[in-house]
Amino acid sequence: MNVGSRITLGPGSATPALSIEDVFERQRTRAIALRVSTADERIATLRRLEKAILGRRAAIYAALAADLHKPEAEADLSEIMPILSEIRHTCRHLKSWMAPRRVPATLAMLGTKAAIRHEPKGVSLIISPWNYPFNLTFGPLASAIGAGCTAIIKPSELTPHSAALMAEIVRDTFAPDDVALFEGDASVATALLDLPFDHIFFTGSPAVGKVVMAAAAKHLASVTLELGGKSPVIVDETADLKKSARSIVWGKFANNGQTCIAPDYAYVHESRMPQFIDAARGAIAAMYGDAAASPDYCRIVNARHFARVRNLIDDATTRGATIHAGGTADAGQNFVAPTLLSNVSADSLIMQEEIFGPVLPILPYGDLAMPVREINARPKPLALYVYTKDKAIADRVITETSAGGSCVNASMAHFLHANLPFGGVNNSGIGNAHGFYGFRAFSHERAVLSDKFSATPMLFPPYSGRVKQMIKMTVKFFT
Ligand code: NAD
Repeated sequence: MNVGSRITLGPGSATPALSIEDVFERQRTRAIALRVSTADERIATLRRLEKAILGRRAAIYAALAADLHKPEAEADLSEIMPILSEIRHTCRHLKSWMAPRRVPATLAMLGTKAAIRHEPKGVSLIISPWNYPFNLTFGPLASAIGAGCTAIIKPSELTPHSAALMAEIVRDTFAPDDVALFEGDASVATALLDLPFDHIFFTGSPAVGKVVMAAAAKHLASVTLELGGKSPVIVDETADLKKSARSIVWGKFANNGQTCIAPDYAYVHESRMPQFIDAARGAIAAMYGDAAASPDYCRIVNARHFARVRNLIDDATTRGATIHAGGTADAGQNFVAPTLLSNVSADSLIMQEEIFGPVLPILPYGDLAMPVREINARPKPLALYVYTKDKAIADRVITETSAGGSCVNASMAHFLHANLPFGGVNNSGIGNAHGFYGFRAFSHERAVLSDKFSATPMLFPPYSGRVKQMIKMTVKFFT
């Protein structure tokens, strides 16, 4: 078995390293005990996680700087804040989420009482990606704890400083019977996926999402798949160009474009193309100046992804794309300058795959039907953004397309709204995260009916003439 697939219990522990199977068996037992855990007990566990995050703030900044050159401000905004918000929102609302929800009796069910109870699914598996390593690991963990589940975590191997720090946080904060973390690559994930988890919460690419779903099918484990894809933007002729450009540039170049909900490419009304390109160039200059020297500009995660992004730009320019900003790169630094492209041909690689890097193709359109048709011809995106002053245009775009989530005159902000479900649709994901929706992902909604004086026993066999008549009346009057 892979070296990464054993965890130790920390310095001074008398217990030998535990294998994946050991931990899984311990968690199975623990998950049954957790069924009767109270909201206060779960909140106490969440507070321990909150304290561990706050106590390791400096170490989190350092790990993210080492892995992604992520500036402290971005670490605060996109890693620490969403985790604290998830934990605190869950703590605030957990009692009401856990309370059985009474539902009224239907006519045929008069004489019964019915409620929906959210029971913990049991042992959960959380597999996370590298682009927001803390946020996308501890966010789902907060939901799992809130729902009363145990969790085994497998973070990405591509951000090793963050993975090692998360392993330390988990080891110091939880018993492995409750929460455990196994570092390692896809082979560790594969070993984990062999086990009969009750729920699998996966965040990553659509390609690996399919592998996860196939593995889950062997045990009929339920899944939440938070995937990716190409998230389009539409900027219509009424949009405030300066504001729109600032918002799109921020969404695109934060974390170097390595964001699942980053604007991937932008359709801009043909009458506003030159002004939009100018405004976007201005926004890049205002935010990053000389990006290579800017402390606020991240880097591509590794040489493989650097080469991939570089190749997307080269392929697009070979096919006739025009560079309006950036286009330069430094392999030694995994640095790609914030890049704006136009005249991008539809058969360019950059229009085929998720860019996941700091490059924005800008495509002109005349009639709104064209971007809507093209968006509908591609796999359903994780996000779709519309910039317009015309509410009817925003409504039309949202109604005529399908996407995991959308913002009007903003990008990425829906991720931070704790009362909104966050997730994709089909190729961009299955199920939702965040707040109540995250709690629900790790819960089974159990229907519980208590019979007080319902008429159902009167419909039991033998089906005498009188019983048959009553059944006919029931079908006629009570459905
Ligand atoms: P990835 O799918 O390559 O890896 C994600 C995780 O799966 C990692 O922990 C990795 O070790 C593991 N893994 C890799 N191959 C595996 C296999 N064959 N079997 C089992 N596990 C395997 O994704 P990534 O490169 O880490 O992240 C980028 C992708 O994630 C992009 O597509 C992005 O859009 C998406 N993403 C989605 C969200 C969201 O919330 N929807 C958030 C962040 C990233």
